[in-house]
Amino acid sequence: MPYICANCGKTIKQLDKFVRCTYCGHRILLKSRPNLSREITTD
Ligand SMILES: [Zn+2]
Repeated sequence: MPYICANCGKTIKQLDKFVRCTYCGHRILLKSRPNLSREITTD
């Protein structure tokens, strides 16, 4: 299950034994939910 960094918003698909963002090093990750990612602006 992919996670989303609470700091930078990047998606982390694979977690190491230490749970943290691989981009910014933030330790708080949110479980990605389809409801949140469906907010897409169409022009
Ligand atoms: Zn991050």
